[in-house]
Amino acid sequence: MKKILLLFLIFFVLLSLFPHTVYSDLAEEQKKLEKYKIELEKIKKAINDTTINEKTAQALLDSIYDEIDKITSNIIVIQNKINVVNEEITAAENMIQQKTQDILQNEDQIKASINLSYKLAAISPIELLLTGQDPDTMNQRIAYLSYISLSSKTILDKTKVERELLTQKKEDLIKNKEYLNQFLSEKWKQQEVLKEETAMQNKLIATLETRKIIYTKKKSEIEKEIEKEKALIEKLIREAAEAGRVLTTGLIWPVKGPITSYFGWRTHPIWGIRSFHEGIDIAVPTNTKVLATASGSVTYAGWMTGYGNVIILYHGSNISTLYAHLKNFAVKNGDLVAQGQIIGYADSTGWSTGPHLHFGVYLDAKAVDPLKYLVQP
Ligand SMILES: [Zn+2]
Repeated sequence: MKKILLLFLIFFVLLSLFPHTVYSDLAEEQKKLEKYKIELEKIKKAINDTTINEKTAQALLDSIYDEIDKITSNIIVIQNKINVVNEEITAAENMIQQKTQDILQNEDQIKASINLSYKLAAISPIELLLTGQDPDTMNQRIAYLSYISLSSKTILDKTKVERELLTQKKEDLIKNKEYLNQFLSEKWKQQEVLKEETAMQNKLIATLETRKIIYTKKKSEIEKEIEKEKALIEKLIREAAEAGRVLTTGLIWPVKGPITSYFGWRTHPIWGIRSFHEGIDIAVPTNTKVLATASGSVTYAGWMTGYGNVIILYHGSNISTLYAHLKNFAVKNGDLVAQGQIIGYADSTGWSTGPHLHFGVYLDAKAVDPLKYLVQP
């Protein structure tokens, strides 16, 4: 007999402990879920930021590539110009060589004619008389030779001037070439800098890409955790509802307010006849949050004559609760709810003289006095 009593005692102790464990677990899991949701939002933002950064880097990279292309075509143009200048320099050099040869030839010719005229001039008039030559004719010949050497001298001077001009031109061309080469090396340098920049941008993009992959992985992990949490919460709610132990810990108040009508026989406020009031009326302002008195499932959320918008929750073990005259619903048929969860908002729908919550408790489909089950807040 004692043993049986002891077993009973243990059973009741466990019974009273169980709901507490379930609900504290549930609160714990709901807290975790909220944390995961915040984390998810953070990671989504991080992914978004990374995507924007990546796009910016990509746009910058594209513009750098465009710039490199422009510089490359500049380089080609400059190189072509340098080639042309080189050809011009070669042409000038050839002409200078030609002029130098001309000058040498002219100089030889002049020397030869001057020698001849000197030779002729060295012959004395007596000698000319003796040889019977006409001194006038001789003088004319000397004059002619002098003329030849004079004209050769003119050509020589002209050629020298031409060669000077060509040398000047060549120098200008070389200067031009130097300038072009300098310009070219500047372009090469610019291109080098831009190529380094593309390497950096590519590296940045790769880093962002890797980061995005990590974030995305993290995101799907969090999403999985959220799904797991949701499933766990549902399971806990279902277990709690199925265990039906809520009444051992008591129901929490769905709203806080003064009781304006108690459970039992009363004169109906609208019809003025004696009728049985299957719950309590708690006066609250319109839009007051209505909370689930215990965990359970929504068995009805809709219109009911008299009650207006009404929600019925089933908590397991044939225990149900009813919330009437609501403005609207925060849950729908079939939803699982946790104790303290918002299920709707108070109003005055249906047969009601003012905003209040009608709250009913049913045990085996029979109305019972809610005040016997509600715990003090
Ligand atoms: Zn009522």
